[in-house]
Order: sequence, then C-alpha cells, then structure tokens
Amino acid sequence: MSETDPSSFRRQQPEHGFASHRQGKPDSNCRTCNDFKSWSKQQRIISNVQNSKDKHMAAAEKLTVNAAELPREDCPLDKVSLGISTWGLLHTMAAFYSDNPTDNEKRDMKSFFEVLSRLYPCEFCAKDFRTDLTVNPINVNSQKELSSWLCMFHNRVNDKLGKPLFDCSKVNERWRDGWLDGSCD
Ligand SMILES: Cc1cc2nc3c(=O)[nH]c(=O)nc-3n(C[C@H](O)[C@H](O)[C@H](O)COP(=O)(O)OP(=O)(O)OC[C@H]3O[C@@H](n4cnc5c(N)ncnc54)[C@H](O)[C@@H]3O)c2cc1C
Repeated sequence: MSETDPSSFRRQQPEHGFASHRQGKPDSNCRTCNDFKSWSKQQRIISNVQNSKDKHMAAAEKLTVNAAELPREDCPLDKVSLGISTWGLLHTMAAFYSDNPTDNEKRDMKSFFEVLSRLYPCEFCAKDFRTDLTVNPINVNSQKELSSWLCMFHNRVNDKLGKPLFDCSKVNERWRDGWLDGSCD
C-alpha cells in the first residue's frame, strides 16, 4: 500500500474526534494540535469557568432554600408589626398636621386618638394608652406641638419596653423632612 493510497490515508486519521482538523483549522480542544503549554492553559480556563459555574449554582440553590424558609409576608400582624405600622401612621399624621389647625381639625385629631386608644387591637397596650392620655393629655395646637407630644408619648412606651429613647428634636427629620444628611432624598 503506497503513501498516496486513499485507504491508507483514512487509516491515519484518528477515530475519536479530538485530533481532527475542521476545514483546515486546528480544533481548539485538540491536545495534539496545540503545544502542551497552551493546551494546559486552556484546560485551566475551562476548569475555572466550570468551578465558578458550580459555585454560582450552589449559591443560587442556597438562596432558594433560604427563601422557602422565610415566613410568609401576608400573615396577620403580630404586636410588633402592628406597633411599627401604627407608629408610622401616627407620626406621619402628626408630621402633616396643620401649623394653624381649625377647631374642627383639633377636635378630629383629639377624637382620633381617643377612639384609637379604645379600639387598638392589643388589649394591654390600649389600656396603658388610655391611662397615658389621661395623665398626659394630647396637644393638638399645632404640627410642632402634636409631633412633640407624640414623640414623648412614644418614648414613654419605649421606656416601658426597655427600648432606647428617641431624640425628639429630630422628629420632623425622621417623619416629615428626611435626615439633614440627605440620606432620604
Ligand atoms: C399606641 C401603641 C402602644 C403600644 N404599647 C405597647 C405595649 O404596651 N407593649 C408592647 O409590647 N408593645 C407596645 N406597642 C408596640 C411597640 O411600641 C413597638 O411598636 C414594637 O415593640 C416594635 O418596636 P420597634 O423597636 O421595632 O420600633 P417602634 O417603637 O415601633 O418605632 C418605629 C420607628 O419609630 C421611630 N421612633 C422610635 N421612637 C420614636 C419616638 N419617640 N418618636 C418618634 N419616632 C420614634 C424609630 O425610627 C423606629 O424605628 C405599642 C404600639 C403603639 C402604637
């Protein structure tokens, strides 16, 4: 069989794909088509890509598991969530109360707090709320006075619960204007 015999040529071609030349171009996965240095560099890149893919998938899997362990968000409010939401409403109402309220506005705001202290859906909180309103009557004369009164009322509850007291000179920054450093803008 001569060197030019087509059957001999076919036999010299490897049967597996890795040594093939496609359309005259060296196959990039072919170890024998590249020098060993470039081949091993290429293998390291492939391995790094695979490793980072694996890490990414493991992290994504972990996140899915953690999300499944989180409590649902559409459950009835407990005392803490109810408190946070209620303070948010009360302080915001005070923040946007008039500087020169009419008699009607004053009466409505006073009634609102009185009714809330009777209907607040945490019995012992409501009981203390009513007592506090008697001892420290609400001040509805202006936005500044109402916000300040409410801040002090909230601080009395904070104190009772062993929480830190809020600096009432910053009540409008917290609930109306945003912090002076611009972090709420
Ligand atoms: C009328 C009322 C009575 C309550 N009584 C009780 C009770 O008797 N027992 C009980 O266990 N829980 C009670 N709560 C719930 C309790 O006050 C808290 O809401 C809850 O414990 C969650 O507290 P928190 O630390 O997350 O922030 P919260 O106290 O809810 O405060 C919410 C946010 O208000 C701001 N803030 C804090 N203090 C002041 C302040 N003085 N002035 C202005 N802003 C402030 C802070 O930015 C804070 O993150 C009551 C809630 C209300 C509305």
